[in-house]
Amino acid sequence: MAEASTSRPLAASSVPRWDLEHEVVVVGHGVAGGAAAIEAARAGADVVVLERMTRGGGATALSTGITYFGGGTEIQTACGFRDSPEDMHAYLRLAAGEQADPERVRLYCEGSLEHFRWFRELGVEFNPTFLDDKVTHPFGTECLTFSGNEDAWPERELARPVPRGHKPAREGEAGGYLMEAVLRGTAESGARVVNECRALRLVQAADGRVVGVVARRERERIAVKARRAVVLATGGFIMNREMVAKHAPHLLQCNYRVGTPGDDGSGIRMGMGAGGDAINMGEGLVLNAYYPPSSHLKGVLVDRNGQRFVNEDAYLGRTSDAILRKADGRAFLVVDDELYGQTQAFHKLAAVEESFEALEKALAIPAGALVRTLEVYNESAARGEDPLFHKAPRYLRPLSAPPFAALDCSTSNSIFGVFTLGGLSVRATGEVLGPDGDPVPGLYAAGRCTAGLPREGRSYASGLSIGDASFFGRLAGRRAAQLAPWD
Ligand SMILES: Cc1cc2nc3c(=O)[nH]c(=O)nc-3n(C[C@H](O)[C@H](O)[C@H](O)COP(=O)(O)OP(=O)(O)OC[C@H]3O[C@@H](n4cnc5c(N)ncnc54)[C@H](O)[C@@H]3O)c2cc1C
Repeated sequence: MAEASTSRPLAASSVPRWDLEHEVVVVGHGVAGGAAAIEAARAGADVVVLERMTRGGGATALSTGITYFGGGTEIQTACGFRDSPEDMHAYLRLAAGEQADPERVRLYCEGSLEHFRWFRELGVEFNPTFLDDKVTHPFGTECLTFSGNEDAWPERELARPVPRGHKPAREGEAGGYLMEAVLRGTAESGARVVNECRALRLVQAADGRVVGVVARRERERIAVKARRAVVLATGGFIMNREMVAKHAPHLLQCNYRVGTPGDDGSGIRMGMGAGGDAINMGEGLVLNAYYPPSSHLKGVLVDRNGQRFVNEDAYLGRTSDAILRKADGRAFLVVDDELYGQTQAFHKLAAVEESFEALEKALAIPAGALVRTLEVYNESAARGEDPLFHKAPRYLRPLSAPPFAALDCSTSNSIFGVFTLGGLSVRATGEVLGPDGDPVPGLYAAGRCTAGLPREGRSYASGLSIGDASFFGRLAGRRAAQLAPWD
């Protein structure tokens, strides 16, 4: 079982010989590692990528591939949406969460159009089409979606709603297709890739500079010298139960861990061992997909006491976080006969009854509570209003066609996907920072092993993980290539 403790670095003086020697050593070949390797190599550095699996890809290759771009991409323009770096910035300040690093948000928005072109030049195609439906896993080849809370309250009143989720032009999960382009880009950049090579410990010189990595390649232990820098890009820690229990115990209620075995926090623990700080470790993205069908957005989400607690049309990251934290993990989506449809995650029906009273009784909700909630909801929905949670008018209509069904959205009875959002504290340019805010010399990190741009699941938008990992992976790679060699 993976540990929760930090991995102590090896002193450089204890390394008997270096088996490999390169200027920049990138650990992990997902999108962050690939982006770092490509940019470091393009900047002229001699780069090696160490990947523990037989091939790179990581969680990125399993993903839907939605990437958050904006500021007026050609896809946005072709679909009739006007966007600007300023509008994107207004929204992303909210989506990144209260703990966000303002510098990261600014750079991401200013560089988004160039970053979109970078992916295009790697060969990733996007169709100029808009999917006008609320989904988390678009299955078709349409590109543009509202992938977060852009059109939900309160964001829609604070920033002009514009769709920025861009899915590559592939059916189903498109992350594999996107990642193939990145792996090809790494190969073409001249970076060397060593697969089946798992980094175990960092190597640190007496002055604290990180100067290499100890890794296991197949059965042998090797020391890899990094003449300029090491870039950690190893993914998150959702597969490390000990770490989750220690840092984010509420996430243990979720029953579907989204990631690969590589998401065991090894990079975070290595970085901490070398003096790096880990921050935001209690945050995760939680997803309980009670839509599609988007008719379910017209349903009413209630807790065990029959009370509403969130606007049902918010991004699933927010509604699911609210189920976990506000409703204590027990919630039902009430729909009527016209709204009901099978969800993609196959939610169980907790009860189906002809009246609100009977439904309330079947769900063991205190007498009168659910009936009152639904009557109040219906009255205001009939006027196109939701004074309590400001659900958008397009999703407001009274529940009036019996039978009424309650879908079980509880953590114990439905699928709750989860991955972590915490990790190493880094500058936007990738330097790993210690608790005092000073960089650990020679050490960089990017992607899910860092506390990146999205800091909260409740304000997250799909596409921010791949967007953040690739954008800041590139910056880290460039900066690592510029660091003066240590010998
Ligand atoms: C099903 C699914 C759907 C998703 N959909 C989306 C989406 O549409 N949009 C979005 O933005 N995000 C999505 N995500 C999340 C997103 O894919 C990840 O958060 C992001 O891709 C992480 O990128 P990364 O480069 O940091 O990590 P990864 O892509 O996981 O790469 C890390 C790599 O490091 C390797 N590694 C780990 N430890 C070591 C070690 N010690 N030594 C050597 N190698 C090591 C791993 O094997 C792996 O190859 C989804 C995730 C999943 C699983």
